[in-house]
Amino acid sequence: MFDTLQDRLNSAFKSLRGKGRLTEADIDATCREIRIALLEADVNLSVVKEFVGAVKHRARGTELSGALNPSQQIIKIVDEELVAILGGETRTIRFAKKPPTVIMLAGLQGAGKTTLAGKLGRWLREQGHSPLLVAADLQRPNAVNQLQVVGERAGVHVFAPEPGVTTAGGADQPTGDPVLVARRAMYHAQQKLYDVVVVDTAGRLGVDEELMRQAAAIKAEVRPQETLFVVDAMIGQDAVNTARAFAEGVGFDGVVLTKLDGDARGGAALSIAKVTGRPIMFASNGEQLTDFDVFHPDRMASRILG
Ligand code: GDP
Repeated sequence: MFDTLQDRLNSAFKSLRGKGRLTEADIDATCREIRIALLEADVNLSVVKEFVGAVKHRARGTELSGALNPSQQIIKIVDEELVAILGGETRTIRFAKKPPTVIMLAGLQGAGKTTLAGKLGRWLREQGHSPLLVAADLQRPNAVNQLQVVGERAGVHVFAPEPGVTTAGGADQPTGDPVLVARRAMYHAQQKLYDVVVVDTAGRLGVDEELMRQAAAIKAEVRPQETLFVVDAMIGQDAVNTARAFAEGVGFDGVVLTKLDGDARGGAALSIAKVTGRPIMFASNGEQLTDFDVFHPDRMASRILG
């Protein structure tokens, strides 16, 4: 996903190789190229401006001394600034002192929430936890069934509404009441001593008020320790706009980037931590349960720099 960005940044640094010291003009030219590289990768404009400003400021400062040559020094600064926009420290789930820890997943339809619920379930199980997945996406036909399949594959139990459950809209409504399902799931988790509850919620194709209201109502019911905003890294600048809308409408503690295996430019997704002030906690890079890992800002920065 970041091949072009990697190539462009490397060519920006190339012109500095062999130079004994950096002139003001060198710094300006390199920063111009870095700016173009980031913009072409679809990094958010305000993030690019701040990023390039910081690199320039540091490159002009006193840091340019010591054992590294100018090109290495600039690469080091760019690396550190990349880590900073990606959220700095690695941060994963904060578990509740008194179980169960509740993790709620929110995001647009197709972002990869249901798949992620399985991946998280598997990951949690590997960490020695006893997770329960909750099917509170009652909008999308087949979403409950999909979570059950994913849960089975991950070896994790799924709490699903009973077939034909009475709904807010009447018994003939196929949609059910996700808040009620969430409430029952919490009771079930406490009774059966699951220590982590992962709540999958419905998404829409676009952000809308009803979606936000529903997600906020589920959140108020289950009071999650962690609300994770799940976002498809392939959707470009919409990722940033959607993140802003969810931050306002539902609020979230962390971000999960999905589809990092795609061939889109991906820079927008890299802007989310900076734009929302929330860390990227996990990354998904495929459809298999194992295509998933904790997100490490420093490793991602190294990967981008090649
Ligand atoms: P939801 O609507 O948010 O629950 O999204 P789903 O979990 O149903 O995922 C939508 C589609 O994206 C499915 O076909 C998934 O297999 C696929 N998907 C999910 N995560 C990834 C990923 O990291 N990489 C790729 N290539 N596909 C993914």
